[in-house]
Amino acid sequence: VRSTLKQLCRDWSHEGTKERKQSYGPILDALTTLYSHLSFEERANIRVLNPGCGLGRLPWEIAKLGFRCEGNEFSYFMLLVSHYMLNQCPAANQHIIYLGLILLYIYNIYIYIYTTNVKTLADQFRGIKIPDVSPTDLVLTTKRYDLMSMVAGDFIEVYPSNQEYHDFFNCVVSCFFLDTAHNILEFLDAISLILKTDGYLVNIGPLLYHFEDMSDPSIELTWEEVKASLPHFGFELVQEKLTLPCVYTNNPNSMLQTSYDCVFFIAKKIKSSNGALSDYFLKPFFFKKKKNAFMNKWKWFPICDRAQGRVSKLKKKFPPLSAKGTSNT
Ligand code: SAH
Repeated sequence: VRSTLKQLCRDWSHEGTKERKQSYGPILDALTTLYSHLSFEERANIRVLNPGCGLGRLPWEIAKLGFRCEGNEFSYFMLLVSHYMLNQCPAANQHIIYLGLILLYIYNIYIYIYTTNVKTLADQFRGIKIPDVSPTDLVLTTKRYDLMSMVAGDFIEVYPSNQEYHDFFNCVVSCFFLDTAHNILEFLDAISLILKTDGYLVNIGPLLYHFEDMSDPSIELTWEEVKASLPHFGFELVQEKLTLPCVYTNNPNSMLQTSYDCVFFIAKKIKSSNGALSDYFLKPFFFKKKKNAFMNKWKWFPICDRAQGRVSKLKKKFPPLSAKGTSNT
C-alpha cells in the first residue's frame, strides 16, 4: 500500500514532475522522434504497449501525444488505484463550476508520515496533492476516447501466449520494468514476438533484479550481457545511453537520497527471435531432461563464458530435480 501511495506521488502529483521528466521524458522524446514523419492524427495508427505501467501516467502521456497506447499491469494495488485515477476520481470525470471558476477536486495524501530521515515535522506531515492534472484532459485535448486502454494481467501470460498479439505492436516501451522479470531474456523474447518487424523496444531503467534476494529462480545479467543477447531476439541496438540519472518515488526533502544511473536504449526488431532461447536459462534447473539440449544451445550463445559462472551459482541455489522428479526448492 505504501509503495502504491508513493507511486501516486510519482505519477499523479506536481511533486513527481521532476522524476517523470527523468524517466518518462526520454521515452516520450524517443517516440516523437521515431514517428516525427507522422501527423498527430496518423499517430493513432501506431500501437504502443507499456508493460508494467504502474499507475498509468506514462501510457496516458503517450496517448496524449496521439499514439494508441495500451498499459499493462498485474498488481492489484496498482490496478485499483490506476482505475480510480483514470476513471473514478472526481477530477477524472468532472470539473466543478463554482462562481464562474473551474475547480478540480484535489486530494491530499500523507505519504511521509511513516518515513524516517526527515528533518522537520512539517516535512513529515506534508500533504501531497493528487492529481496535478485532470486525467480527463486526455480526451479533451486529443478529442478521442479510444487512444488509451489498460490490460490487467501478467505480461507473459497475456501477450506472448496469445496468438493475436504476435506481430501486433509498433512499439513497446518499458520503464523500470525489464528487471522485474525472473528471466529478463524471457521478457525480451516475448517483446520481440509481439512487435512487428521494424518495430521498436524503447527502454529506460536500472537492473535492480526484483527476485535477486528471494528464493524464486532468477537470473541477474549485466547490461553488457543483456545487450549481447539482443541480436538473438532479432533486435538491432539503434541507440544507447548509459548514464541517465533517475530517482524513483523519491522524497526530495529526505536526508537519504537514492538515484539510479539508468540505461536507456532503443532496439529495432529487424527479424524474428531465434526461438525460445530464454527457456534454456532456467528450465534445466526444473526439467532435467532438457539439460542436454540446453548445453548444446548454450555453446553458441556469446555471453556463455560469463553466464557459465552464473549457471554454477544458480545450480547451487536451485538444485536440479532429484531422480524421483521432486525438487527441494
Ligand atoms: N513503469 C512504472 C512502474 C515501474 S515498477 C514507472 O516507471 O513508474 C514495475 C511495475 O511492473 C510494477 O507496477 C509491477 O507491478 C509491474 N510488473 C512487474 N512484473 C509484471 C508482469 N509480469 N506483468 C505485468 N506487470 C508487471
